[in-house]
Amino acid sequence: MAKKTIFEDCDVLVVGGGMAGTGAAFEARHWGRDLKIICVEKANIDRSGAVAQGLYAINCYMGMQWDENQPEDHVRYARNDLMGMVREDLGYDMARHVDSTVHMFDEWGLPMMKNEKTGRYLREGKWQIMIHGESYKPIVAEAAKKSADKIYNRIMITHLLMDETKENRVGGAVGFNMRTGDYYVFRAKTVIVAAGGASHIFKPRAVGEGMGRTWYAPWSNGSAYALPIAVGAKMTQMENRIVLCRFKDGYGPVGAYFLHLKTYTQNANGENYEKKWYEHTKEMVGEYIDHHPTPTCLRNHAFIQETMAGGGPIHMVTKEAFQDPHLETVGWENFLGMTVGQAVVWASQNIDPKYTNPELTTSEPYVMGSHATCSGAWVSGPEDLSPPEYFWGYNRMLTVEGLFGAGDTVGGSAHKFSSGSFTEGRLAAKAAVKYIQDKKAEEIKVSDTQCENFKEIIYKPLENYTVGRNEITGGTVSPSYISPIQGLQRLQRIMDEYVGGIATNYMTNANMLKRGLELLQWLEEDLENVGAEDYHQLMRAWELKHRALTSQCVTEHTMFREETRWPGYYYRGDHLKLDDENWHCLTVSRRDPKTGKFTLEKVPVYHIVDEKEKKQAS
Ligand SMILES: Cc1cc2nc3c(=O)[nH]c(=O)nc-3n(C[C@H](O)[C@H](O)[C@H](O)COP(=O)(O)OP(=O)(O)OC[C@H]3O[C@@H](n4cnc5c(N)ncnc54)[C@H](O)[C@@H]3O)c2cc1C
Repeated sequence: MAKKTIFEDCDVLVVGGGMAGTGAAFEARHWGRDLKIICVEKANIDRSGAVAQGLYAINCYMGMQWDENQPEDHVRYARNDLMGMVREDLGYDMARHVDSTVHMFDEWGLPMMKNEKTGRYLREGKWQIMIHGESYKPIVAEAAKKSADKIYNRIMITHLLMDETKENRVGGAVGFNMRTGDYYVFRAKTVIVAAGGASHIFKPRAVGEGMGRTWYAPWSNGSAYALPIAVGAKMTQMENRIVLCRFKDGYGPVGAYFLHLKTYTQNANGENYEKKWYEHTKEMVGEYIDHHPTPTCLRNHAFIQETMAGGGPIHMVTKEAFQDPHLETVGWENFLGMTVGQAVVWASQNIDPKYTNPELTTSEPYVMGSHATCSGAWVSGPEDLSPPEYFWGYNRMLTVEGLFGAGDTVGGSAHKFSSGSFTEGRLAAKAAVKYIQDKKAEEIKVSDTQCENFKEIIYKPLENYTVGRNEITGGTVSPSYISPIQGLQRLQRIMDEYVGGIATNYMTNANMLKRGLELLQWLEEDLENVGAEDYHQLMRAWELKHRALTSQCVTEHTMFREETRWPGYYYRGDHLKLDDENWHCLTVSRRDPKTGKFTLEKVPVYHIVDEKEKKQAS
């Protein structure tokens, strides 16, 4: 099966053209006028990534020009929401630059809603501003297209290439075009991984005919984590998966409802159930329950406890707000520009929120780095802010030289959202260009042998199928290979039942995790025998492999942190309390690429913002 090989050499290679990737391509051109910049995207950057369908709010805007918020405020907010565990250097760095990103979106034609009285951007909440954002993604994609030398759509990156002259230095990436089947080798001086988060590693609530209906983009398959993990880059906070409270079945967002429409939740008896669980939660997490705003995980916790105690279903009270025709319009438009499916679900279930309070649910867990969660790569921070443990030369560079990350890829910096991810792409690209200009990427060698080896590995699922299908005597079940969907469902059950998914109400413990790791190990062996009947299935096979590697890392981290830091995201039944004495720290892992073994360590969490203020005051 000889596949054509196409070589492309460049300076900056951006993997994934979502929010962070488009930001990276744009900024790389600003600093690197003469550099060759390539962006490779699995889908089509006009409609790819989590923002594909549009958004109704930009969730991260400081409003520094009007002194609405300062970066310090955002650091405190993110720290509080993540129960203390964030990289404050990264968060501050993003926050101090995010407004300039939003102002560019405005200039580029993104329709921003304005407050008629003040002329400022219309606030939905303290951090969110409202947009008519159906075309958000095509607008940022245009900026990337004008900046990059070339955008490759429909190419899935499967592996990073490594330099053969200097250990631990990146040399590019390889993948295949899922339409033509051609093999692509991108030899690059720097690589910026911006490949989004991971859905479908835990079994979703919607299975069978509803499969694909998840909160997080179903095509986000953890490449952002698997690519760096495979080459031995360090990862952080991978245990910090996120669970979302959303409208049932359609996963429609609740932010605008809470913040703008001022709707609220109640249990089946019409009670404010959150209050009921105050003492119980305080027992688990201490004073964190008194923080304002209540951390996202703790609100989930009350929801989950109430449902387990028989108080469900939980409803969003919309009947009052929807009597106001303006709010009614906002409520519907909120879905039409972002999650059309929710409106369709309500229509199919005969729910008009003006007359019926819709039901809410808690989602299956997802792994990502840009929302109310901060799983991802362990990266260097900016020179002027980061303590020595957090700084090794280039902003947003991973622990592999020349390899950068942004958006969901980067761990420790929560609450970036769309604007912050684009901003982080810009920061990573600026540093990547400097890395090249500082001559750190000289004489990189990527041999033909390395490229040929990957070629064989990548197309093996096609070969498995071609040979194995002849043994099938009936149906589709083969004695010699498993299909990507079979492998995916097996992975999802392992994660769901052993690592704290919906099957156990997000509960796990060391024994379950140990068993989960064993089962993941066997799955990894069996994935050598995954079969793909065409290029689309080949993509599914590689998505699965990336999901499986990401899952191993998540499970190892969950095993390592012996406490329940985020009740409502997951519970360690054998350590059912938050333990600040032993676990007020970040977790960092590294998988040895040769042995496949993970090692984990604790790294101090520095509360830089208030420390700085304390020092200034003294
Ligand atoms: C349901 C939902 C609602 C949200 N609502 C809001 C909101 O209202 N406001 C807000 O500001 N933010 C919101 N966000 C957050 C925002 O969408 C994310 O923070 C942002 O998109 C993250 O940017 P990213 O570039 O890391 O990932 P993405 O934007 O998802 O981009 C990742 C890209 O990588 C590509 N890719 C993946 N794997 C590969 C591979 N192997 N090879 C090549 N390409 C690959 C993908 O196709 C995709 O284009 C929401 C997110 C979700 C999931």
